[in-house]
Amino acid sequence: MEVITKYLEGVPLITVFVVDVGGVRFVVDPGPAALHSPLDVDAVLCTHIHLDHCGSAGHLARPTYVHERYTRHVADPSKLYEASRSVLGVFAEKFGRPLPNEKVAGVPDGARLFDVFDAVHTPGHAPHHVMYYHRDLKTLFVGDGAGVHIPELGAVIPTTPPPFRLDLYLQSLDRLRGLEVDVVCYAHYSCTRDVELLKRHKKQVEAWVEALRGRLDLTVDENLRLLAKEDENVAKVLEAGGLYLDFYLRFSVLGFMEYLRQSASSS
Ligand SMILES: [Zn+2]
Repeated sequence: MEVITKYLEGVPLITVFVVDVGGVRFVVDPGPAALHSPLDVDAVLCTHIHLDHCGSAGHLARPTYVHERYTRHVADPSKLYEASRSVLGVFAEKFGRPLPNEKVAGVPDGARLFDVFDAVHTPGHAPHHVMYYHRDLKTLFVGDGAGVHIPELGAVIPTTPPPFRLDLYLQSLDRLRGLEVDVVCYAHYSCTRDVELLKRHKKQVEAWVEALRGRLDLTVDENLRLLAKEDENVAKVLEAGGLYLDFYLRFSVLGFMEYLRQSASSS
């Protein structure tokens, strides 16, 4: 497997995986349109249609596989791009505008693709999120469904921008328990054999819920400073600052707070 790291403003942010299966080459999450570079591949698997992961699929002009209910946003990405701009602001522009891609195929939950990838529908980060499990390599491509892994900081934090669905996210993490995983590959970023990170991440999410539930009157920045005292991963990212703080941590805390506010007002 070829692991390609994409840098945004000098920061290693996104990973693109090229997998050869019996001479057929797949890319898992080709990355954003703005960071597109030619790839010699036959097909594209996207864990989800967000701009930072599937945005360059149209540039590659190869058959592209995404969750079955969202193929139209790959064929015509104009609405997706506008929606991304309203949530991510300037980051949507940094990732660039996807090209329309008519060669899109829908992936249902539980599908086995090309005899080797098992698709696991894992909503929460986004309703269209799918993980791909490579049966021979025992490798799980988790996309954005199990947090962001920042190897140089030794940190994992949630990537849960609004509209985040905590309930679905936890159910999705539970679905992974039946898989025999040797390697976890994160879309942000790189792979690790430390598969215990998946379990620790679930505990982390539960701890964030407990911490934030009683502090919904505080600002995002007040909450992330308090979280840093409770979660060393947050402390490391806060100290590092830059894109990891602005693109991951602030949006993630905001996503939790909005979900918890909504569930408090509807119960
Ligand atoms: Zn992402």
